[in-house]
Amino acid sequence: MAETIHLLPDHIANQIAAGEVIQRPASAVKELLENAVDAGATEIKLIINDAGKALVQVIDNGKGMSPIDAQNAFARHATSKISTIDDLFQIRTMGFRGEALASIAAVAQVNLKTRRAEDELGTSVDMENSEVVATSPTACPVGTNISMKNLFFNVPARRNFLKSNSAELKHIIEEFTRVALAFPEIYFSFIHNGQDVFHWEAGSFKQRAIHVLGNTYSSKLVTVGEHTDYLNISGFVGKPETAKKTRSDQYFFVNRRFIKSAYLHHAVANAFDGLIPKENFPSYILYIDVDPSQVDINVHPTKQEIKFEDDKIIYAFVQAAVKHALAQFSIAPSLDFSLDANIQQLEAVQKPLTEDQKTATASSSLYAGFTQKNQAHFIAKTSHAEKQDWKSFFTEIPAAEEPSFIVKSSSMGLYQEKEGIQIKQEAALIQINNTYIVAPAGGGYVLFHQQLSHERVLYEKYQQASAHPHATQKSLFPVVLELSASDAVLLDEMKEDLAVIGYEIEPFGQSSFIIQGIPADVMAGNEKNAIELLLEQFKHFSGDIKFSKREKLNRCLARQMAIKAGQSLSQTEMHTLISDLLNCDTPQITASGAPTYIEFSENYLDSLFTKI
Ligand code: ADP
Ligand code: MG
Repeated sequence: MAETIHLLPDHIANQIAAGEVIQRPASAVKELLENAVDAGATEIKLIINDAGKALVQVIDNGKGMSPIDAQNAFARHATSKISTIDDLFQIRTMGFRGEALASIAAVAQVNLKTRRAEDELGTSVDMENSEVVATSPTACPVGTNISMKNLFFNVPARRNFLKSNSAELKHIIEEFTRVALAFPEIYFSFIHNGQDVFHWEAGSFKQRAIHVLGNTYSSKLVTVGEHTDYLNISGFVGKPETAKKTRSDQYFFVNRRFIKSAYLHHAVANAFDGLIPKENFPSYILYIDVDPSQVDINVHPTKQEIKFEDDKIIYAFVQAAVKHALAQFSIAPSLDFSLDANIQQLEAVQKPLTEDQKTATASSSLYAGFTQKNQAHFIAKTSHAEKQDWKSFFTEIPAAEEPSFIVKSSSMGLYQEKEGIQIKQEAALIQINNTYIVAPAGGGYVLFHQQLSHERVLYEKYQQASAHPHATQKSLFPVVLELSASDAVLLDEMKEDLAVIGYEIEPFGQSSFIIQGIPADVMAGNEKNAIELLLEQFKHFSGDIKFSKREKLNRCLARQMAIKAGQSLSQTEMHTLISDLLNCDTPQITASGAPTYIEFSENYLDSLFTKI
């Protein structure tokens, strides 16, 4: 038999290698933006069509390339950023592997136009399947204009793996936001399908943070800044009141490179301990600067993880820096009353420090210079009356968070006999553990799970709403929702579908929305929370390609709005719930397949007690 090993043709090898670097339009966005940053640009424009599937274009006013470099840039391992292995440990640029342009040219149709200031004419290069298909001198501005069309046109299997436009766009905005946050001294703009999405003037770190997080943050950021010989940390944390249920506004940059670190996130969360509710996430944008020799960014081309020489020190440092910032802010004269009261409700503030805590605090070098009254634990108390007001305010919010459970009058006598279950209207129902409902049926009983049952009821209701739009109640006091840039795009995508079920949401500035109306059965006062939760759930789903956007939304909403386990129900409420459930098309399971009830028939019960 003939030999079976053969060398892959270059274009296939290149496509395989490209998969490491370019997984989706957003990966190309990141690479091209970083190249523009590395080229020293002060203005960078990102133009996207069709969530990057049709076009990703980046225009910069950086230093440009010579005619020869313009072609060489596409060769694998072509880079101007390192030349010896030692350079790896002193990296100050974003790129250094020389793989991005080669990868992009392997999986998309690319046109590059570039000119250096010293050249009269620029160069245009067209690439397809890793080959130069055309090159010519061209008149163009100084800088680089690179466009990548039809990503994965030659790898249909990969193209099919791309997700919905809203999901891909979300990734693109994430990458755009991260680069923009890291380089506020650069002007960034972003156009999608011909529409201006963002326009961020060059400015300070704080100004950029506010561009990204939204205007409401202008008075809600606490500045973090600690400097040592070993490392510097700077940036912002949101005041406790800005903590959200969604995990969207958390950014770490190490030497201006965005990184993901559950470990460091924990350090920040720890510093907020006791200041925000457990299930909420603090928002933060933190920049850590260390000597490049102290970190290893050479882990993987697209990995956002990072290895520190000593990550325990970094953890302690981040935590202390955030604590310090929060402590200082709590006595700042600009402190508004609402926040002061807010913090005072918390146990950690009311409780004096334990001896151990005092010693630990005192021995931390960061704290060495502070007086005790600079700490959050020592906020001067306000009058008792004021505190009472705030207390009632706080107990009302959790109550409003419980979805309302509308009691409708149901049919008289027996419920629907679906699945052969007969429950008498006057039957006494028993709620167990505020979670289960026991209903006598026939000679046995049925055990319902209240939350899962309600989820099914709502799910079918929302499904029907697609055909018959739902009633809206106009908000008396329209609520303004300030979102992060990426959440705003997501909500914009969802708003028509939300309208069908009764949410009236209108754009209001760059990343804000006004909630004008809510479904008739959502309790007013809870709309902001409901939307935040919805966004969070929707994001978890967005990886699922098999569901339509509507279907995802229906599922998310049903889950979110369902009465929760732990809520005590009256007899009428329990009867209504069961009757509504048994009237469903598919009462036995939730949309995601969990059982809603279990039947214990007379025969089954008898069989349990027969003698063996
Ligand atoms: P890397 O960024 O890792 O060096 P890339 O494949 O991204 O690798 O780019 C290859 C080279 O092309 C870069 O090292 C740089 O010299 C040049 N280059 C890429 N994009 C630009 C740009 N926007 N402006 C100027 N030069 C660029
Ligand atoms: Mg690069």
